[in-house]
Amino acid sequence: MMRTFTEPSKEIPVHSFDVVVAGGGTAGVIAAVAAARTGARVALIEAKGYVGGTMLEGGTTLHSFFTLGRYFGRESKQIVKGIAQELIDRLVAVGGSTGHLIDDVGIDYDEHCTLIDVEKVKLVEAEMLLEAGVEIWFNTLVAGADVENGHIRGVIAQSRVEGRVYFEAQSFIDATGWGDLSAYAGASCTVPKEYSVANSVGVGGVDIERYAKYIEENGGLTGVTYGPRDGKDGQIVRIGASFWKVLSTLMAAHRKAKGEPAGISEEELAKNRIPLDVQKQMAALALTLGITTMHDDYFMYLKCNYVMKDGVTDQAAMTKAEIELRRRQAESIELLRKNIPGCEKAFIARTSPTLCTRRGRTVECEYDITNADILAGRHFEDDIAFFGFHDLAPKMHVGGDGSYGIPLRAILVKGIDNLFAVGMMISSEYEAYMSTRNTVSCMAQGQAAGTLAALAAKSGKPLRGVPYESLKSRLVEGGAYLG
Ligand SMILES: Cc1cc2nc3c(=O)[nH]c(=O)nc-3n(C[C@H](O)[C@H](O)[C@H](O)COP(=O)(O)OP(=O)(O)OC[C@H]3O[C@@H](n4cnc5c(N)ncnc54)[C@H](O)[C@@H]3O)c2cc1C
Repeated sequence: MMRTFTEPSKEIPVHSFDVVVAGGGTAGVIAAVAAARTGARVALIEAKGYVGGTMLEGGTTLHSFFTLGRYFGRESKQIVKGIAQELIDRLVAVGGSTGHLIDDVGIDYDEHCTLIDVEKVKLVEAEMLLEAGVEIWFNTLVAGADVENGHIRGVIAQSRVEGRVYFEAQSFIDATGWGDLSAYAGASCTVPKEYSVANSVGVGGVDIERYAKYIEENGGLTGVTYGPRDGKDGQIVRIGASFWKVLSTLMAAHRKAKGEPAGISEEELAKNRIPLDVQKQMAALALTLGITTMHDDYFMYLKCNYVMKDGVTDQAAMTKAEIELRRRQAESIELLRKNIPGCEKAFIARTSPTLCTRRGRTVECEYDITNADILAGRHFEDDIAFFGFHDLAPKMHVGGDGSYGIPLRAILVKGIDNLFAVGMMISSEYEAYMSTRNTVSCMAQGQAAGTLAALAAKSGKPLRGVPYESLKSRLVEGGAYLG
C-alpha cells in the first residue's frame, strides 16, 4: 500500500478577482481578453512562461477552420470571427501570420489555411491580454480547488515565485486543455484511452522547394499553398503530403541504408501499399510529412505520435512518453537527413517544453454535443459559437449550410454553478470531439465563456441567471459571428 504524508496546513495569500481563467492556451487567452473587455477583473493562470498553448505546439496552421470550405458544395463563408479574427489581423500586421489563404491544388475539404508564426503569437497574445487589463500569472500551476456545495470558492495554485497562492473569484474558466481545474473541483470527468500524444518538432536548415519536389516526385503531394515567406509573396508556405505514399518509399530507403531488408517489395512500393508489420513500424514513428512554414529554411511540424494506451493521467507513463517522443524525434530527423533531398542539413530547431495531448480529460457539461448534432448542422436556441470543420472529413462532414452551433450548455460544467469548461475538453463522443477540439472552435468557445463570466460578475447574477439575449448581443458587439 502507498504510504502517505499529511501536508501541514498553512496560511497562504488570497488574491481576489471577478473571473479566474485557468490555462492561457488556445481558448484561455481569448476567454481572458473577452472577460476583461466586458469589464471584469481577470486573472489568467498559466503553467508555462508564455501563452498560446497547443495552438502553438501542435499543428500551427489553423486550416479550414475560420471559413466553410467549398468542397461539399457550400458557400465559402467565414463563420468564426471576433477576438480570434482580431488576433490574426494583429499577427498579419507584424508579419506573424499569412492571413487566410487558399490551397492551390483544386478544391479540397481542407483548402483554407491560416498560418501563424508561433513565436510572434506568444508576444502578440500577451500584449492583447495586458491591453485588456488581465493580470497574468506565468509559471503558476493550478493545483487544487476549494469547493462548497457545487460552488467553487477559490482555486489553489503553485507559483514558482510565491509558492502556494489562493485565487478567489465569482466564476472560473477551466481552459487547461487537460481538465485540471474541473477534476480538482470534483466535476465528472473521463479520461479517454488510446490517444496519441506528440511533441512537434520545428525543423531548421531545410530547402523547402527541394523538399516539395521530392514529395511531388514520389506521388505524395496532396496540396500546395502559396503565400508570404520571409517577406516575399508567392512562396510555398504549406505542403500537403500523403503519409503512406511518401513514407513507404522513405522507410524502404532507410532500412536499405542500414543494411536491413527493405521489408517491402518493389511491386508493393509501386502500389504504394506496404505490409502490416512495416506499417506498424512506421506508425510507431508516426511521422507526418505535411508541413507549413513562414520562413525560407525552416518548417513545422515534424510529428512523431505516441499512443498512451491508458490515457494521459498516469505519472510513470507520462515520463516514459516524454522520453520516448524525444527518441523518435532524433530518429526521425536522421531519417530526413539521410533520405529526403532538401533535408541534408536538417536539425531540430525547436521542441515543446512538454508533450502535447490531443485529448486529456473530457469534462461532463450540461449538454454533450453529439456527432449526430454536428452532421445534421444543428443549431440551438442558446448557440454561443458557430463551427463547421470536421477532422474526419471527407468521410464525415457538417450538413445544412455547413455550420453547426455550440450551445452555451456545452461549456457549463455539470454540478458546479460557477465553472466553464472550454477548448478540447468538451464533447465526450470521439467523432464529435474530432470537430469541436479544433483550435478555432476553442477560441470561439473562449470568447463566449469570458463574456458570460464578466456579465455575471457585473450584474451579480449566477452564470445560469444571465439572460441568453444579453450574452448574444454582447458577443455580437464583440465581433463574434452568430449567424
Ligand atoms: C500534435 C497536435 C496537432 C494538432 N493539430 C491541429 C491542427 O492542425 N489544427 C487544429 O485546429 N487543431 C490541431 N490540434 C488540436 C488543437 O491544437 C487543440 O485541441 C487546441 O489547441 C486545444 O486548446 P485548449 O485551449 O483546449 O488547450 P491548450 O491550447 O493546450 O491550452 C491549455 C493551457 O493550459 C495550460 N495549463 C494546463 N494545465 C494547467 C494547470 N494545471 N495550471 C495552469 N495552466 C495549465 C497549458 O500550459 C496551456 O497553455 C492538434 C493537437 C495536437 C496535440
